[in-house]
Amino acid sequence: MSAELLRFDEALSRVLQSASAYARTHPVTERVLLADASGRVLAGQICADQDQPPFARSTRDGFACRAAEVNQTEWLAIAGATHAGQRPGGPLPAGAAWEIMTGAPVPAGADAVAMVEHVERSGDAVKLLHGRRLAAGENIVPQGAQAREGDVLLEPGVRIGPAQIALTATCGYAALSVFARPRVAILTTGDELVPVEARPEPGQIRNSNAPMLAALVAQAGGAPWLLPAAADTPEALDAALGQAAQADLLLISGGVSAGKFDLVEPALARRGAQFHFTRVKMQPGKPLVFGELPRNGAVSLPFFGLPGNPVSSAVTFLLFGATMLAAIAGAPSSEPPFALAQLAGDVKGKPGLTRFLPARWQPHALGGTMPTVTQVPWQGSGDQAAFARANCFLVVPEEVSGLQSGAVARILMM
Ligand code: AMP
Ligand code: MG
Repeated sequence: MSAELLRFDEALSRVLQSASAYARTHPVTERVLLADASGRVLAGQICADQDQPPFARSTRDGFACRAAEVNQTEWLAIAGATHAGQRPGGPLPAGAAWEIMTGAPVPAGADAVAMVEHVERSGDAVKLLHGRRLAAGENIVPQGAQAREGDVLLEPGVRIGPAQIALTATCGYAALSVFARPRVAILTTGDELVPVEARPEPGQIRNSNAPMLAALVAQAGGAPWLLPAAADTPEALDAALGQAAQADLLLISGGVSAGKFDLVEPALARRGAQFHFTRVKMQPGKPLVFGELPRNGAVSLPFFGLPGNPVSSAVTFLLFGATMLAAIAGAPSSEPPFALAQLAGDVKGKPGLTRFLPARWQPHALGGTMPTVTQVPWQGSGDQAAFARANCFLVVPEEVSGLQSGAVARILMM
């Protein structure tokens, strides 16, 4: 067992490297209805089944015409009308205009649409208002301008959200092929844990990491598989780890610090674990463990030993676990969601450790240039009330002893 203490960025690059090796090690696919596809990872290509738009489409209510004619400011006779949903009308006769609605097909022969607000109408004729000009192509999206029939519009690996659902619906896909969600075993450990429904006796606490990690896993695209909480004994841990062997990823919470009852690492070692690191220069989350368990004839099982304090478990999962999970889930491996924000208030650091402090970011008021971020006062990594008031983590780099109000800082979104 190596006891490697890594810098945060080194630990992250080891996980990213490993994640690319695990990419698509769970290539099982399934079909889901469009209504159930949000958040899933696309497993097949999406192609345009016809040109997009399928006909030259007006983007305005107005009059289709020839720009060269309408710019003469002569009256053009209204030769017909088409509204959205009607078959294309026309062709447009010479010296004429065609009344048209937004979304309707433009008649053959027309090369522009004059907005209804920009014309004057008299009986069955229209002309441009004084001083208005119309350019050829204005207010018309030509057939196939967005995509040609057969074009590949989305590749496997894309995470499906509202925009992808709109596109696939337009292309006639009522169901999509997606990668099955990886099964993520969640093993909470600790003699002090009782189920949520129980009233803790003195010295006991409710097991809040189990539902929290399940929520984090689901949010990151995995299928949480909650194992019964294990006591702090070698026997209980051996049995639990044996059960977890069927998972695609294993998260263990608690038992990885240096205490007398921190028995998780020895239990992993007994199962032949290879450890990639066992300590990270970060706070919270220093005791984080990352490695893989061998499996007969199958891809090895990556695991994270997360420190048991709720905020430590959450931040180490968001930084490392979610990254690995995304790769296994078929999405291209990506860095954790960092962003920049301007600090409101001074913040203390701790040279030698990258700190992740519960914080709140807010969109900057109009006129500002970037979001602002404020630290949430907290009592350390067991402070769930402070965590629940946060919407991000403020990152204080390892090298500094603090950050000053007004500085631009990194935040980890969640
Ligand atoms: P450990 O990492 O096992 O040393 O635990 C660190 C702290 O986190 C202790 O105060 C534990 O009681 C607490 N803790 C461990 N597991 C959980 C859990 N599943 N839910 C809530 N708190 C926990
Ligand atoms: Mg413990």
